[in-house]
Parts: sequence; structure tokens; C-alpha cells
Amino acid sequence: MPKIDPKLCIGCRACSNACPSNAIVIKDDLIQGTRSIVLDLSHCIGCRACGEVCIKDAIEFIEEIELVSLSMGNLTEEVTLKLAKCPICGNFSEFTEKQIEEAKKALTDLPGEFIEEIMKYLPLCRKCRRRYLLMNASELSLLKFMLKAF
Ligand code: SF4
Ligand code: SF4
Repeated sequence: MPKIDPKLCIGCRACSNACPSNAIVIKDDLIQGTRSIVLDLSHCIGCRACGEVCIKDAIEFIEEIELVSLSMGNLTEEVTLKLAKCPICGNFSEFTEKQIEEAKKALTDLPGEFIEEIMKYLPLCRKCRRRYLLMNASELSLLKFMLKAF
């Protein structure tokens, strides 16, 4: 059965998207600015798909003996992360702070004159990103490139 390491998880949603039994659900609170990754072991079928897609190796699979002790208590575990704030409007973006940091790390090693520009896109909320693109339509390819980094 899976267990999420809160120190490694960046809140990318990949595990939730891959889970065939909806045992992992993502809940965004745009008022508090948080994303919760909620794992309900009572729905888990033990397929390990979540662990295979996690790019941070944040999911480990626990032994049966630990499962017995878990069954005595709560079968739900939750990891809560902060959402990034859009530097333009101040609303929360659809990415976590950890995702932004991860993308920045990945992009700094890439060559290219647009990297600085892409860095500006990263923390924008969906609305401001659309506005920015309307003003900079010729840079659409930059956005596509950036989104692939997530
Ligand atoms: S795939 Fe990994 S990093 Fe992404 S939300 Fe799930 S546990 Fe966290
Ligand atoms: S092991 Fe399979 S069923 Fe269980 S949480 Fe992961 S993806 Fe979902």
C-alpha cells in the first residue's frame, strides 16, 4: 500500500491522475492557498501506478505488517502544500510553490535566450497568463515549452 512522503511531494497531481480507483484525490483551497493530496487507503487496490508516475519518488509502498497497524486506525492520509501566489494579481496559481521551484531548477540548466522570460511566466495564475499571452501572442511557443516542464 502506498505512503506519500510530504518532504518529497511537490503536489504535481500525477499520482491522482494515474490512480484507477480514485484513492488519491487533489483538493485545492484557493482562499487559503493550499493543495491537499488525500490518499484513502480503503479505496486502494495496490496497483502501484501512483508510484510509477511520481517524478519525485515520493511514494513508497509499505509492508503488510505496517498495514495491519494502519487498519486499526485512520486509513486516510493527507499531504498539504502551499499554492504559489501570482505576482501580478495576488491570487493563488494552480501550481504549488514546490512545483514552481522544481520547474525553475529544471530550466536553469537549459540554454536559450528565453529562459528569463519563461521564469516570469512560471508563477502566474491562469488568468494573468492568458492576459500576458494575449499581449505577447508571438510567445505562445514559450508557454507550451514551459508547460512541458511541469
Ligand atoms: S506524483 Fe508524487 S510528487 Fe506528484 S502529487 Fe503525487 S506524490 Fe506528490
Ligand atoms: S496503488 Fe494504485 S490504487 Fe492504490 S493509490 Fe496507488 S494508483 Fe491508486
